[in-house]
Amino acid sequence: MKASERLASRMKLLGTESAFSVLAKAKALEAEGRDIVHLEIGEPDFDTPGHIVEAGCDALRNGHTHYTPSAGVMELREAIARDVAKSRNVPVESGQVVVTPGGKPVMFFSILALVEEGDEVLLPNPSFPIYESMVRFAGGKPVFAPLRQENDFRFDLDEFRAGMSEKTKLVIINSPANPTGGVLAKDDVAGLADILREYPDAFVFSDEIYSRLLFEGEFASIASEDGFSPSGRTIILDGFSKTYAMTGWRLGYGVMPERLAGEVAKLQVNSNSCANAAAQYAGIAALAGPQGSVDDMREEFRERQDIMVSGLNEIPGVECAVPKGAFYVFPRIVGTGHSADELADMLLDEAGVACLSGTGFGKYGEGHLRFSCANSRENIRRALERVGDVLSK
Ligand code: PLP
Repeated sequence: MKASERLASRMKLLGTESAFSVLAKAKALEAEGRDIVHLEIGEPDFDTPGHIVEAGCDALRNGHTHYTPSAGVMELREAIARDVAKSRNVPVESGQVVVTPGGKPVMFFSILALVEEGDEVLLPNPSFPIYESMVRFAGGKPVFAPLRQENDFRFDLDEFRAGMSEKTKLVIINSPANPTGGVLAKDDVAGLADILREYPDAFVFSDEIYSRLLFEGEFASIASEDGFSPSGRTIILDGFSKTYAMTGWRLGYGVMPERLAGEVAKLQVNSNSCANAAAQYAGIAALAGPQGSVDDMREEFRERQDIMVSGLNEIPGVECAVPKGAFYVFPRIVGTGHSADELADMLLDEAGVACLSGTGFGKYGEGHLRFSCANSRENIRRALERVGDVLSK
């Protein structure tokens, strides 16, 4: 075997995110002159608010062009601790906060720090594909708790309980959820907490990256439940990518027990050293500054989702539920007679509409497509027309 082919066997365990592969395919079609409507990638299409951009530029001008402490600039860690303490109603110390380049590394580092060969990890299915990828990479065994449209994409608590065992090291939840737009209400979270109290040794990883993109009710975090604070057994993932349209800045954070935060910071020292310095100063401005842009963006997503949901429901064979949070719709397409993979390919090739097959999020995603609403109302209407045309042929 050639040296260049001798990869470590663990690389076979690592999965990927179909959003990036479909984006690459769609870009290649565009390079051939095709007109593509992009509804595949999960990033707000809005500009980062001006005062945040200014703070980032000022930071660069003022010499913040160097390494920072690996867990992040103290002023930002303190601001995050205050923000999370207030929004989740729990005590949080800055020592529990690790600032990372985007929220994703919090997944990568926490799973590497906690999951060992043979450990079980309970996670939703369909869900963000990196959870399963990382659990397998760490040698863990993913156990799936299904999310179904007929249950508003919430857990069936009996199925959730059945997924738990003495081997469960970690439980992953995500609300509002990618790809389904489902939300765990206060009652759902309390029900999960009741079950998890029977397993006091399991950590809980709560991915709350869409917590500010909620269309009704109040955000409910498991960290607010008795016994689930981030100084005990819960790891919160949140960040700036979705809330402040800052995906390209790469700025996120984890809030977790201090001992684990130290280990996660050590993994950061061993990989990326720290998050981008100027982005961290922009993050301080994002938390301290006006929050109106977050509300405006959420309202625009709501309008677009309304257009998307009603347009999709007019297409024969498609049934789309109204999402309660995030910025995706996850319609059931079983009635079209196509599998999810087949239809996603057909829409890209024949209609020039890039979207994702539900199977990219796990086996329970079969029969669904994910459309992101991070595109203009006009482009969403164009996409709907094209999808309707292809399916009526
Ligand atoms: N968690 C979920 C559920 C997501 O959908 C994403 C991004 O799509 C992330 C975390 C990571 O976001 P980022 O690393 O861009 O901050």
